[in-house]
Amino acid sequence: MTSTVVVLDPARPGGVLADPAVPLVRIDDQGLTRGDGVFETLRAVDGRVQKFGAHHQRLSASARLAQLPVPSAQEVRGAVELGLAHASPGGDGGLGAEHSVKVAISRGTPEDGPWSWVVVTPVPESTFRQRREGVAAVLLPRGHDPAQDSGYPWLLPGAKTLSYAINMAALRHARSLGADEAVFTTEDRRVLEGATSSVVCARVRGDRRVLVTPEPSHGVLPGTTQAAIFAAARRDGWELGYGPLYPADLMAADAVWLVSSVRLAVPVRRLDHQPLPVDPELTRLVTGYVAQA
Ligand code: PLP
Repeated sequence: MTSTVVVLDPARPGGVLADPAVPLVRIDDQGLTRGDGVFETLRAVDGRVQKFGAHHQRLSASARLAQLPVPSAQEVRGAVELGLAHASPGGDGGLGAEHSVKVAISRGTPEDGPWSWVVVTPVPESTFRQRREGVAAVLLPRGHDPAQDSGYPWLLPGAKTLSYAINMAALRHARSLGADEAVFTTEDRRVLEGATSSVVCARVRGDRRVLVTPEPSHGVLPGTTQAAIFAAARRDGWELGYGPLYPADLMAADAVWLVSSVRLAVPVRRLDHQPLPVDPELTRLVTGYVAQA
């Protein structure tokens, strides 16, 4: 097993290493039986975790919405660093030694209550291949506009919960259609987000360079990668736009990427069977905005 596991323990602020080959989760853990919990996935490069503050902030927001306890930044960082210190060598796709770091909080068992853990895993070659070769994506309706959930805290709007069964089903459906990735849309075809990523597109007209993403607070997870790309792009002279985006906007863009913490910026080379332009130079530039810690 190439994963390293650390269990958070308030009595031991640095966390406790656990043997990943030994059962750790009880059969009545509600993270397992109901997907009742929240999580974050971070990228570490050369042993340094990236955007820690943004991830801890989103983890805290998710946990508060789900009424779960939030481990302090210090506790989480201690556990992440312990995991990284004991991890197998990181995957190398040319940007350094990379690990994915998952931090999760589960509702736990009815007797013992919530608990948290960290899993550190080398980034696989399949991720590096997607960065190099891009992906084919299909647009799939999300069924309703998730922005409508925002007034109802019991629908956990904007929380990154362990319940990813729908996202995984969307990916399986995309694969059954011969694609790699799914991009959710509203009934009226407004683009929302990928199954596990944010959507960013570029328009370049002479000196005018614009990056556009769907409005982050309108029913999509506010992506830490999209935010980091936008912050660096603004400093680099790009104009920034926040939706609405429709399929025709993606078809007319000079580049479209699915972005997330571990994949960084993966070019979309085909959308619903239509080829999209892939610009390796722009991909290198946008990746560079988030690749280094
Ligand atoms: N949207 C969804 C549904 C996701 O699952 C993810 C990441 O897992 C993202 C967006 C991108 O988030 P981030 O850039 O913070 O990794």
